[in-house]
Amino acid sequence: MVFSQRFQHLVRVNEPLAPLTWLQIGGEAKYFAEPHTLEEAQGLVAEANQKSIPVRLLGDGSNIIVRSAGFEGLVLNLSNAALATIETTASGLLAGGGAKLSHVISKSVGAGLAGLEYLAGIPGTIGGAVVGNAAVKNGDVGSRVHRVKAINSAGELVELQRDALQFGFRRSNLDDLIVVEVELTLEPTPADTLVRRMQAAWIVKRAAQPASGTRTLQAFIEPDGGSIGEALEAADLKGYSSGEVSLSSQFPGFLLVGGDATSEQVIELIQKVQRSVEASTGVQLQSQVRIW
Ligand SMILES: Cc1cc2nc3c(=O)[nH]c(=O)nc-3n(C[C@H](O)[C@H](O)[C@H](O)COP(=O)(O)OP(=O)(O)OC[C@H]3O[C@@H](n4cnc5c(N)ncnc54)[C@H](O)[C@@H]3O)c2cc1C
Repeated sequence: MVFSQRFQHLVRVNEPLAPLTWLQIGGEAKYFAEPHTLEEAQGLVAEANQKSIPVRLLGDGSNIIVRSAGFEGLVLNLSNAALATIETTASGLLAGGGAKLSHVISKSVGAGLAGLEYLAGIPGTIGGAVVGNAAVKNGDVGSRVHRVKAINSAGELVELQRDALQFGFRRSNLDDLIVVEVELTLEPTPADTLVRRMQAAWIVKRAAQPASGTRTLQAFIEPDGGSIGEALEAADLKGYSSGEVSLSSQFPGFLLVGGDATSEQVIELIQKVQRSVEASTGVQLQSQVRIW
């Protein structure tokens, strides 16, 4: 074991990542740990850095494809309670990076704090949502982020205030950091109004994506000024399938996997669809899925 005595009880070797992802496919992490405290998380990153071991953060696995070869480094997950807390503040909420986005939304609605209820139905953690600026048509999470605490590659804790944060369409400037705490600014609003908004958002979202528990990914995002459904139809790719990987014909942009499909088959299908759509319509379909 390359990690010091201090971390040996925490680090698991050759940990399968497939069960931790929505697609349920992919290889192993050479090293895997679920730190119990911020100090442990920082210490693990610092040690990995000293030993030139690459580090990645796995949230809820709803936006990644892990290659069959797995990841030759340390994968951290922040699901332990101390790293997934959610508290109200004078102006909004403070959430640990590992907190589920759905729990953060429920807490905000229950506390009568508006701004996140439109995001109901997006899977994943608040850390994943902030790093990828999770969004629906009515808004994104980035516009609500006031401050972020994160661990840098040396294991140091850094704090980014609003003016140092950049959010674009499904992206941020936080890619090289591990987000451990997010402060959100929200507006006081009667809770019953928010419950209604959240339920409405959830109904719309549920009707537009495969049911929870399905082995699925949002493979493509809406092209600028166009629609994925139209682009796929124009390229004659609606419901296209290759082996056990298929595009959902009901939910444009989502792909589904079955049986023993491999990550490479999923990646191949995404690339083939992008090439074919561009060749027949000129539209460049973007994918925000992270490939490990
Ligand atoms: C059915 C379905 C519907 C979806 N609908 C939407 C939608 O409407 N809008 C939308 O924006 N997205 C949507 N997504 C995509 C996905 O849910 C979001 O991208 C989500 O925010 C990913 O969070 P996660 O915790 O699952 O991240 P993961 O998939 O675990 O990781 C994704 C990336 O974020 C990084 N990451 C995760 N947590 C952290 C952290 N704490 N610090 C640093 N990096 C981190 C990972 O390293 C990885 O690079 C959907 C996905 C599915 C399967």
